[in-house]
Amino acid sequence: MTKKKNRCSFCGRADDEVALLVSGINGFICNDCIQQAYTIVQEAQSSPDASMKGKWASMNWKSLPRPADIKAYLDQYVIGQDDAKRYLSVAVYNHYKRLCQTVEDDGVEIEKSNVIMVGPTGTGKTLMARTIAKLLKVPFTIVDATIFTEAGYVGEDVESILSRLLQVADFDVEATQRGIVFIDEIDKIARKTDNPSITRDVSGEGVQQGLLKLLEGSIVNVPPKGGRKHPDQDYVHVDTRNILFICGGAFDGIERKIAQRLNTHVVGYNSVQNVARIDRSDLMKYIVPQDLKSFGLIPEIIGRLPVLTYLNQLDRKALRAILTEPKNSLIRQQEKLFQMDGIKLTFDEDALEYMVDKAVEYKLGARGLRSIVEAIMMTPQFELPSSGDKEFRVTLDYARCQLEKSTLNAMQG
Ligand code: ADP
Repeated sequence: MTKKKNRCSFCGRADDEVALLVSGINGFICNDCIQQAYTIVQEAQSSPDASMKGKWASMNWKSLPRPADIKAYLDQYVIGQDDAKRYLSVAVYNHYKRLCQTVEDDGVEIEKSNVIMVGPTGTGKTLMARTIAKLLKVPFTIVDATIFTEAGYVGEDVESILSRLLQVADFDVEATQRGIVFIDEIDKIARKTDNPSITRDVSGEGVQQGLLKLLEGSIVNVPPKGGRKHPDQDYVHVDTRNILFICGGAFDGIERKIAQRLNTHVVGYNSVQNVARIDRSDLMKYIVPQDLKSFGLIPEIIGRLPVLTYLNQLDRKALRAILTEPKNSLIRQQEKLFQMDGIKLTFDEDALEYMVDKAVEYKLGARGLRSIVEAIMMTPQFELPSSGDKEFRVTLDYARCQLEKSTLNAMQG
């Protein structure tokens, strides 16, 4: 009786026809097939498409951070703004849940809750969005609403928001459709009056209408390279139903609208008590969607941004904390820059206090702090790397002297 030959389970050749036959649990593979399989794996891993797919595909919400973890992460980088952090953490967490939902079971479909953050400039809206982005495993992009104009006018079409997301996702449409977009300066596309315009409002209402299409979830033709739509271009179809939009804006003067609303409501019973309870110094916390409408956002847009939260103006204490506490605070960044030259940099406490005083005086908030630190550190950054010094201490006198010499001081008069 002849012994049954072992054969490669892939190409079918027998063991006497190949140089090597490796046995597995219930099959064999020959040396040629191993070689070929190896080449396939190599090619698959080196293509950018595949690597991105791997990057975005690893989504399992059970292994993702919970809202409290997301907030704790934000706390490391963003000072204060607790309410906004909580809202954002929940919105992002729910976004993940929605992406992992299976609708068939019970017919309940979790709808997305786009977010709008209102707060003065330089209070951490973009920082918060950027920090979240670091934590995420979905494509994320930040766009500025001011670059958009109504279709047919000079400027970019709103669809180019999606072009950017598509680029970040390395043209993986699946991943793009699960991404997060931060739209900054949304208040700049508010229409100028509360009444619908009869004439065309190029930068305002028309753009809001365009944006509405993206926010409410539809299939959008996206020019992959961005810019304006062009008849000769091939479009990519992107479904925006699952894209989370986070909008931010300063809404300068919205406190007046809030105050007006609160005052007009103060009629009838209990009015005296209600007025007494209103904290006039912090009207922002009373913001409701109606105030956004008074500011000039169209009701349809407001309806598509159901999660409304606010950021506070940063006070002196917050500014002092911003200097040194965040993980990549301005002072830590300076220390690191000098450390790379082998120089140990230290700041006296009164020098830090002086920087905060100046930021308050210049009314530039946290953004001002950065300019102040840069102005003070300009000369040492220029001179120390070639000086051979191993230590440098910034005292109050030094900080004052440097800032007084700087153009920043001249600008402020
Ligand atoms: P905006 O609210 O206008 O989007 P940003 O987030 O761009 O403001 O803030 C500008 C800079 O100010 C940030 O890069 C950061 O260095 C600093 N900053 C602002 N707010 C905070 C904050 N709450 N905590 C820490 N740093 C902040």
